[in-house]
Amino acid sequence: MLPVIALVGRPNVGKSTLFNRLTKSRDALVANYAGLTRDRKYGEAEINGRQVLLIDTGGITGDEEGIDAVMAQQSMQAIEEADVVLFLVDCRDGLTPADEMIAQHLRVRAKPTYLVANKVDGVNPDIALAPFYELGIGELFPTTATHGRGVRNLLERVSEAL
Ligand code: GDP
Ligand code: MG
Repeated sequence: MLPVIALVGRPNVGKSTLFNRLTKSRDALVANYAGLTRDRKYGEAEINGRQVLLIDTGGITGDEEGIDAVMAQQSMQAIEEADVVLFLVDCRDGLTPADEMIAQHLRVRAKPTYLVANKVDGVNPDIALAPFYELGIGELFPTTATHGRGVRNLLERVSEAL
């Protein structure tokens, strides 16, 4: 079994963008991982020469009733399966209650977690990143998933935990 890395975070923070950047194939590889639940997307990636299994969570649209609860439930299940968690937040939106909900769960689970402050393009990092330090979650990595900025630095640190 490969090391499992879960991408968690509320909708629209950039999880799937990062997932697609890191995985060679966009196809889920669920058949090869019978022990894993099937309502999330799995893909293999190579991180500093190590094969890993990435989990992308989400796929919820923005206007469903109870969206935060469903999102949190999906995140929690992915966190259970993961060896390492990448917790994505959105620099443009700042810290939200949904972020805090996920952070609370991560603190309880105490999994190795990397806080990914995505969409750092077009914001002033000194101002935009400040609220996220309050979460007290792991190390903070500013990224632009759409262009790959900050991603290599993040992966280097992640690979040390594998
Ligand atoms: P998910 O719901 O967390 O999976 O988020 P998606 O990966 O679907 O991204 C949501 C939207 O944010 C899409 O329109 C992406 O193109 C955009 N996005 C993702 N990463 C970045 C980024 O680093 N900067 C900017 N400006 N937009 C981004
Ligand atoms: Mg997505």
